[in-house]
Order: sequence, then structure tokens, then C-alpha cells
Amino acid sequence: MPIPAAVIERRGRDFEFEAVNRPFRLAGLGTIASESPVVRLLGPHLRRFFESDQTHQEINWQFGDEVDCRYFRVMFARRANVRGLDRALVSLIDQTAELRTEQSLRREMMTDSLTGLPNRAGFSDEVEAALSPGTAADYAVLVVNLDRFSRVNACMGGLAGDELLISVARRLKGALRGRDILARLNGDEFGVLLVLDDGPNDALHVAKRIQAALANPFRLSDFEIRVDCAIGIALGSDNDGDSEDLVRNAQFAVKRSKQSSRTETYHTHAFDIAREQFGMETELRRAIEEGALSLYFQPICDLATGRITSFEALARWTNEDGVSLSPNDFIPVAEESGLIVPLGRWAMDEAARTLAAWDAQAGGDCGVKVAVNLSAIQLQRDQIPTMVRAALDRHGIGGNRLTLELTESAIVTDPDRITQTMKALKDLGTTLAMDDFGTGYSNLAYLQKLPIDLLKIDRSFVSGMLADRDKVAIVRAILSLAQALGMQTTAEGIETNELAQTLAALGCTYGQGFLYARPLAQSEAYSLIGQRNG
Ligand code: C2E
Ligand code: CA
Ligand code: CA
Repeated sequence: MPIPAAVIERRGRDFEFEAVNRPFRLAGLGTIASESPVVRLLGPHLRRFFESDQTHQEINWQFGDEVDCRYFRVMFARRANVRGLDRALVSLIDQTAELRTEQSLRREMMTDSLTGLPNRAGFSDEVEAALSPGTAADYAVLVVNLDRFSRVNACMGGLAGDELLISVARRLKGALRGRDILARLNGDEFGVLLVLDDGPNDALHVAKRIQAALANPFRLSDFEIRVDCAIGIALGSDNDGDSEDLVRNAQFAVKRSKQSSRTETYHTHAFDIAREQFGMETELRRAIEEGALSLYFQPICDLATGRITSFEALARWTNEDGVSLSPNDFIPVAEESGLIVPLGRWAMDEAARTLAAWDAQAGGDCGVKVAVNLSAIQLQRDQIPTMVRAALDRHGIGGNRLTLELTESAIVTDPDRITQTMKALKDLGTTLAMDDFGTGYSNLAYLQKLPIDLLKIDRSFVSGMLADRDKVAIVRAILSLAQALGMQTTAEGIETNELAQTLAALGCTYGQGFLYARPLAQSEAYSLIGQRNG
């Protein structure tokens, strides 16, 4: 095809056509220089070209409005001067058709043919275009994964599956706002790029709207099909602007959502927590080695008389920075890292040592027992009866002065082993308590077979019990169960007198809680025995 071309002369600030060819005229590029778009729009380029010492230059030129825009490759080639005037041959290669094909191909590659939505690649492009480090916090990516979609495909055929996907896409679109971008990432997974007008809560709102939009069953031929979905969210604010990371994090979150059955948000903080735990592990190991932990003692009282019958030994740790950490934070770290074995050994030894010191101070049996917590993991990993016996012997304490608190999870993990262990502990004369009772899933048949002396009713049932009939019902049930099995009971978390009286009236044996005392240092605990049991 002949190429539109013109020879242009420069006359001062103006240009003249020395000649234009037919294709140039036909392309609507004009015959009079002052009226030609080439001179009008490319004049500054031409001028710069003439003023340079280049003989040749090429530029891309877009001409016309968006709809019927044409794309040219424009070449300037210097010609010999005539009469002292600069001259150049300007030729234009029309690349409109090629570019259009490329664009539509690109669009096709970025589009899911079934739904007409952007596909994974298209979605990445959209997210990347929207995101920059400065604006990341204004966006979130939501991934919606349909449950059991493959079953629909398998049972009803691919066509029905396609129909379902199209309907789902339509409903999803309806649940979004105009500026949000919906995409189909793969088979049964959709992605949404959200603009957050109102912070992270926006994303949760949209998640709820999506769930509501999918709540009604879909009609497929003669069937009604319910589609559940898992939703994972990744917030731009939790991301340094990398669009791929953002999509991947949302896909991570949707995996978690499949397990937890609720909308999950990806948190980079999870890494921080893991890192912190790792740091804590090192510090805790050192604290145990250096004897930097201490035991506090919280009284357990006879509900009928108010007398202290025993003290529960509770671990305390003030770390190197002077921060006092809760056992709820460091016991899990100890369990995960295996440090629970030395920690538990230390606690047992320290409790026995304390009791021996109190006895010595009282000039005989000081009249209370100590209760020591045994973690399920510790029970799995250590030779508990041997360990307990050694501690008692070391400090000259009888087994009858010791209560061991075990949790239901210890029974669930390995019932046979725990049965052996408990029998051996009973042989030492100790009292065995089932801690946090009601929160685990222990089999009542085991409860009956195991030598348990005492049930500790978990604080979650006790506190707020007076205002909650369900809790009262649970507590009553536990109390009658204990009675039927010949066990005593301790209610945890008693903070008011009224609660203590109600529990006593219901037949609970012992009580523990801030009403009586918070966990106390060794010497304070000893003084309390004198005051209360006097
Ligand atoms: P736990 O065995 O259920 O211990 C009772 C917890 O309830 C203690 O928390 C105690 O301070 C708290 N508490 C007692 N009365 C009240 C009350 O009236 N109101 C409220 N709000 N709380 C009350 P603490 O000392 O933070 O211990 C938490 C948990 O850590 C313990 O729960 C126990 O499972 C574990 N733990 C503590 N020390 C040890 C230990 O030496 N070994 C093992 N394996 N676990 C331990
Ligand atoms: Ca306990
Ligand atoms: Ca407890």
C-alpha cells in the first residue's frame, strides 16, 4: 500500500507543502500546509527536528478522537536545502489496524470468555493500575470462592455449571458499587477490587452484601441450588503496594475462610506474632534457666465456712524489660516449644518448696494444700509421676498435700496413657482435679473411669452466671454430675459475695476468685492463712 507522504519546507515560523502524494490527500491530511493536521499538530516536532542536526527521526502519532482514532508511525527525513530553506520528507505509516488487533487480542487475553469479566491476568492489571504505594490503603482485594461448585459441575454437567457461574457473577456485580471491579480468577473463584471510602470496614460490609446476595438459592433448570461461599480479604494498608501480593494474600485468606467458615482478613501481623513468639521462646528459656519465674498463690476456700483449704500455684514472669507477662501468653509458647517440661518441673518443685517453708514457719502442717497445674503437653512429654514424687521427696511433703489440676484436653489426646498416669498419681496420695471443666469435649464415660476427685467449673460459666439462665443451667448440670460421680467441685472466678452464696446454695464445695483474693506472693499468701483460718 502506498504510504502517505509530503515534502515540507520551513519558511520562518511557518511551513509549506512543496508536494503531497495521493495517499496523503486521501487520508484527509490536507493539501494546504496551514490547514493540514500534520502541520497543525506536528509543527512543534517538525521545528525541533529542523533545529536539531539529525537527518532522520521517527515518532508515534495518535490522531483523532478516541472512537475513530488513528495511529501513525511518522518519519521525518531531511532533504537537501533549496534556496536556503529547510526541507523534509514526512511519511506516515498507518498502524491503526495492527494496533486495533493487538488491543482486541489483549482484551481477549485479559477477559474471561464465559462471564465477560476480567480474568486473573486482567484482574492483576486492574489492581496494578489502581495501586501505588501512596494509595494502597484506599483499596482492598476480596476473593470469593464458591463452595461445592465442582459438585454442581459433576452432577448437572458443565453447561449447568456455566449457567450457575454467570448467575453468580451477575449477583456479585449487583452487590458491588460502580467503582468496584469484579473479575473471575479461576473456575469457582471471583476477585473484587474494592475502593475503601470508609476504611477496612467497607470491605467487611461488602463481604456481608455478597453473602446476602448469594443467600437465595439459584434456579437451574428444575433445580434450586444453594451456593455458599468463602470470602478472604487483603487490605492494601497491610501491603506495600505490590499488587500481586495483594491478590495472593486475599487467596490465602480465602483458604483460611474455607476452614473457619467465616470471612477472614489476611494479616501480615501474623508474621509479627510468629516472630514475637520466637523471641519470647528464647527469653523464656533463659528465664527458666536463670530462675526468673515466680509462683503466685491464689486461695481456694470452702464455700460453707470461708476457710482456705488450698492455694493454686500460678506462674508469673516479669521479663528483662520489666514487663509482667500473663501465663495466658507464655504458657502456649512454652507448650509449643517444649519448654513446658522444664517450666512444669520448676513449678512443681517451687510449689513443694513453698509448702515446706510454710509448714516450717507454722511449726507443723500449715493446714492448706497446694494445687499445681499440669498442661496436657507436659503430661505427654514428661514422666509426671516420677517427677512429682521426686519433688515431694526433695522437700519432705506428703502426697496428700498436693492437688494436680489437669485439663480435659489431656484426656482427649491419649486416654490410655493418661489413665496410667492418673492412677500412679493417685498412688502417691494426691488429689486430682479436672480444670476448666465444661470447656473441653471429654467423654463422660472416661470421666467416670478416671480417678478424678474434683471438678473445677470454668470461669466462663461462673462469672455473669446470675444474669444468665443458660449459665445457671450449665453450672447446675455440672454440680449434679459431680455429685453423681462422687466428686467435689470448685467454682472459678467468683468475684462477688452474692455469687459465692448462690454457688454454696447450689451445692458447690469450694470457691476461688478475686472475692477471696487475687493470686498473692508467697509471704502474703502465708499471712492470709493466719488471718482467715486463725
Ligand atoms: P487457670 O488454671 O484456670 O487459673 C485460674 C486463672 O484465673 C488465673 O489466671 C487466675 O488469676 C484467674 N482468676 C482467678 N480468680 C479470678 C477472678 O475472680 N476473676 C478473673 N477474671 N480471673 C480470675 P492466670 O494466673 O493468669 O493463669 C492463667 C492460666 O495459665 C491458668 O488458668 C493456667 O491454665 C495457666 N497456668 C498458670 N500457671 C501455670 C503453670 O505453672 N503451669 C501450667 N501448665 N499452666 C499454668
Ligand atoms: Ca488451674
Ligand atoms: Ca481453671
